[in-house]
Amino acid sequence: MLRTHNCGELRLSDAGKEVVLCGWVQRSRELGGMTFVELRDRYGITQLAFNVQTNAELCKQARELGREFVVSAEGVVAERSSKNTKIPTGDIELIVNKLDILNPSEIPPFTIEDDTDGGDELRMKYRYLDIRRKPVRKNLELRHKMAIETRKYLNDQDFIEVETPVLIKSTPEGARDFLVPSRINPGQFYALPQSPQTFKQLLMVGGIDRYFQIVKCFRDEDLRADRQPEFTQIDCEMSFVTRDDILNTFEGLAKHLFKTVKGVENISFDRITYADAMKYYGSDKPDLRFDMKFVELNDLVKSKGFQVFDDAEIVLGICANGCGEYTRKQLDELTEWVKRPQIGAKGLVYVKCNSDGSYKSSVDKFYSQESLAEWAKALNAKPGDILLVLAGDKNQTLKGMGELRLEMGSQLNLRDVNKFACAWVVDFPLLEYDKDAKRYFAMHHPFTSPVAEDIDKLESDPANVRANAYDMVINGVEIGGGSIRIFNSVLQNKMFKVLGFTEEEARSQFGFLLDAFKYGAPPHGGIAFGFDRFCSLFGGSESIRDYIAFPKNNAGRDVMIDSPSKVDIQQLKDLHLKLDL
Ligand code: ASP
Repeated sequence: MLRTHNCGELRLSDAGKEVVLCGWVQRSRELGGMTFVELRDRYGITQLAFNVQTNAELCKQARELGREFVVSAEGVVAERSSKNTKIPTGDIELIVNKLDILNPSEIPPFTIEDDTDGGDELRMKYRYLDIRRKPVRKNLELRHKMAIETRKYLNDQDFIEVETPVLIKSTPEGARDFLVPSRINPGQFYALPQSPQTFKQLLMVGGIDRYFQIVKCFRDEDLRADRQPEFTQIDCEMSFVTRDDILNTFEGLAKHLFKTVKGVENISFDRITYADAMKYYGSDKPDLRFDMKFVELNDLVKSKGFQVFDDAEIVLGICANGCGEYTRKQLDELTEWVKRPQIGAKGLVYVKCNSDGSYKSSVDKFYSQESLAEWAKALNAKPGDILLVLAGDKNQTLKGMGELRLEMGSQLNLRDVNKFACAWVVDFPLLEYDKDAKRYFAMHHPFTSPVAEDIDKLESDPANVRANAYDMVINGVEIGGGSIRIFNSVLQNKMFKVLGFTEEEARSQFGFLLDAFKYGAPPHGGIAFGFDRFCSLFGGSESIRDYIAFPKNNAGRDVMIDSPSKVDIQQLKDLHLKLDL
């Protein structure tokens, strides 16, 4: 090897050793007759020292080094006179007696420091330079650790990793497929997998029993912040299991990752039904790091002459502890905040619970102190708290209150990134009605089994059929989701029918699966985790891009390789594509 040690490993105990280090020049400085160069590699930074008195020629060479030059330095490890306690190698330096420039570098377009001066777009264009920065490298190391520990845990549980194809045909996960034209089959296309869903089910029919794969998936969705057209899943499937077996197995995976990657133990999982999650938190992925449950106030507030509440389908309140002193300005800001189109509320009603036991509200005209005291009681409020009330159409108010609850959680610092609240949300509805398409869609996907006791309602009352589906939610983020699957072709056919597939459509798209179910399919179920998101949660960041080595930007572009891009007309001809470009 070109080096004897890396730039992060030498300590005082190595003093006197002759070593060779290789790396990039972080920076250099001159001090009296000395030149100091910080040499960086993946493992750390070591100071190189050059003394003009003992070797003027070498010192001159060192002074000519620019940022990001790649060098090799040979010398003797020595104790430093002024130590740097901020880095692990800070007790020593290398007294260099031979220096080789392995490759010079142009001046980088941004500084390779923890706090860089480079904007997002520039860093993405030169992502290979960005990756030299410690925060980016740390994120990739975290991702690696997560992947390794996932493999260890699942391997110990007898899962085997099986690769499934990338050139497949459409799987209905609700998004648009990326298509790949086939040159040797004119006019025909492969689709890139939105998930390996059907393959993993076929692996269960194949007797694999426990499958997993850390796998790239592709969804051609409209641009939304923090969505990547290609992303990674930890995809899993198990045979001969009940829902609870799956929940326990993957709770185990999450706990293993918390312990080995984050050093966090004593993680516990709540279970909450979809219906309760919506009722109390207005979200199917509630942030349970704090309570602040919704209380429905309809019975207490109606028929008192306040038209807004009388006309509302639902009136919901939350209690924000300790916010009773909010100023006029703060309340105006909150009111503007709930009126933004994303939230869509018409207004915000507040009740301040004063320390003397009285109440001050924005609807004092309509409600007596006794009435307000009843609201406060229903919401379990104490003096010093504030009640925030929204009213209107049920779905929108639930959703709006869900957002307001999160905002108040943030304002009250209740959403600490180092605290973890984990839950399973269970019993999702099986189907969702789409008013525009005038038909039902599978909320999860068409292979999800209904809850056993609801199966006979599939045709008579489809809207009220619960799915045997579950999501893992951590700190308000959906980390994974899955279901117990349908494993008999009669029920699967019935499901396709409810979803509006004709028999021919079902056959042409999923004939292979329906056929497989005729040859002894075992009961099975599974789950898939959004691996990028899991990593960003563990890293304490909101952005999944920070955990992907070469991500696309919000317009779905890779600005480094400049893709997507035009192709040669001959390539299009070979693919039998005619495009007006
Ligand atoms: N294939 C599903 C998804 O990608 C997950 C599952 O049901 O296992 O969301």
